[in-house]
Amino acid sequence: IKSINLKQRPIGTPTLADFEFKEQENNVTLSEGEILLHSTYISVDPYLRGRMSDSKSYIPPFEVGQPISSGVVAEVIETKNDNFKKGDFVAGMLPWKTQQASNGEGLQKVDKNKAPLSVYLGIVGMTGLTAFLGLHEIGKPKKGETLVVSGAAGAVGSVVGQIGKILGLNVIGIAGSDEKVNMLTSELGFDHGINYKTTKDMKSAIQKAAPNGVDIYFDNVGGPISDAVLFSINRFARMIICGAISVYNNTELPTGLSVQPFLVKNSALMQGFIVSNYADKFPEAMKHLVTWLGEGKLTYKETIVEGFENTPQAFLDMMAGKNKGKMIVKV
Ligand code: NDP
Repeated sequence: IKSINLKQRPIGTPTLADFEFKEQENNVTLSEGEILLHSTYISVDPYLRGRMSDSKSYIPPFEVGQPISSGVVAEVIETKNDNFKKGDFVAGMLPWKTQQASNGEGLQKVDKNKAPLSVYLGIVGMTGLTAFLGLHEIGKPKKGETLVVSGAAGAVGSVVGQIGKILGLNVIGIAGSDEKVNMLTSELGFDHGINYKTTKDMKSAIQKAAPNGVDIYFDNVGGPISDAVLFSINRFARMIICGAISVYNNTELPTGLSVQPFLVKNSALMQGFIVSNYADKFPEAMKHLVTWLGEGKLTYKETIVEGFENTPQAFLDMMAGKNKGKMIVKV
């Protein structure tokens, strides 16, 4: 049984040296009520970076010397729990281990005949719920409005933009390569895409792509990209602060534009969003996601990395933008 621990707290951009591999003999003995799980897919996510640091947040930090955990899909390979059969697949928050015992608490059964198993970590998992609920609960979209999405080619962003199109919005995506921008407009139905890495003047590029201004900004990245969007916001604009990946590796507090004048002038709303605050709305959101997927109105992108031992590298690559859509490790 292999596991991946946090070896030390990263300072700035994490590296492979911050992770350590541990191996133990395959000798888990199950107690009554337990199941033995073999990990199938592991999700690597930006919020894990926050948990690697020792600072107060909405979720406690990882402990040094202990396994990292994230969303995992696993197969039940042995069972002493009547609620689970051998061969069942489950999804939940689990440590980065190839195998482990669990009492089944917090795990949801997933059906590989309804959707490919990796998708339960993406569009029919936390990713899809974040996109749907952030956009609806804070964005309050109305047909004909203009939506800007940052981190648009990533897991959450690529779904936000597509939902925007389903709802009849004008959708502009911001991403970090021409290939990604091309994917947004030619495969995912976005109206415009902007490559923030090659665009010198983001403020003008956004004004040009959104001549009628921006009504909703779904922010995954923060920093200078979001500063540039502020110059285009309309009266009563809604800004969903879903993530701020551009500053997750910062060692000092970021300084930037002062947002208050933009908010005052436009009676605009800016609100932080954490998907777990909306658990009561998950079933309803999931119904929409599954229906749209079934109807072919919604699609998803994945970047799948093979091999449990490549999990730390997959995390680093996702942080560096090497993924399109959801970054997932196939164990
Ligand atoms: P993504 O699949 O979007 O992967 C991260 C992406 O961030 C990379 O592909 C990269 O794309 C982009 N990126 C990296 N550095 C920068 C930078 N300096 N400036 C701009 N973009 C950058 O990850 P997720 O979809 O899983 O998460 C997206 C955001 O949503 C994150 O901020 C995450 O923390 C947040 N989130 C929040 C949740 C909540 O409940 N609030 C739940 C889930 C996610 P590129 O090539 O375009 O740079």
